[in-house]
Amino acid sequence: MSEATAPPVCFVLSAPSGAGKTTLAHAVLPKLPEIARTVSWTTRNPRRGERDGVDYTFVTQDAFDEHQAAGGFLESAVVHGNSYGTPASEIERIQADGHDALMVIDVQGAEAVRTRLAAAVTIFVLPPSRKVLEDRLGGRDGADPANEETIHQRLGVAAEEIAQFVRYDYLVINDDFDRAVRELEAILIAERCKRRQRTHEASEILESFR
Ligand code: 5GP
Repeated sequence: MSEATAPPVCFVLSAPSGAGKTTLAHAVLPKLPEIARTVSWTTRNPRRGERDGVDYTFVTQDAFDEHQAAGGFLESAVVHGNSYGTPASEIERIQADGHDALMVIDVQGAEAVRTRLAAAVTIFVLPPSRKVLEDRLGGRDGADPANEETIHQRLGVAAEEIAQFVRYDYLVINDDFDRAVRELEAILIAERCKRRQRTHEASEILESFR
């Protein structure tokens, strides 16, 4: 990367569980090959269909703690009783490929990223209502079927997380899914079009006028 090249953008996408942020990210990222999602480490068990090293890197608590003690995470948090973290090496891998990074992480992680990467662009996804979130949580499949208590617990956490939306740069309301996809895509594209991100390309064009 030359000195004139803009630093890659680090995007953070947060939402309460069940608000649809992972589905949104999966719908948008194939359209934007220059943005890559960081693969987090987690100590939770894989859900049905999740692949190790693709959806998450599934690790033991010991392995997680060891990596954390060695300073290997850009950020980490305990969410619903499990540990999650973004390895710093993920950002390095994505940046080395010349891409921008998208972290799909919780509100605690987002706060840690803000502290460490002031230029990070943060996006919050809101469910349209508590009722819709409750229905979506009830319909979630996996190794650990969502029971009443889990749903109740997740709704409580969701209420606390939703209160954090004021800390984010952008807000997407996931009511109409197609519209939410368009909005998220528009945010990612607009940030990549900012002048400071384009200085390198602009200087090459200016050079051709000399
Ligand atoms: P799930 O277990 O449902 O995939 O994720 C639970 C929560 O953990 C979600 O809010 C998800 O965004 C968040 N999460 C996933 N990876 C990370 C991570 O690396 N760091 C943090 N702080 N949160 C994460």
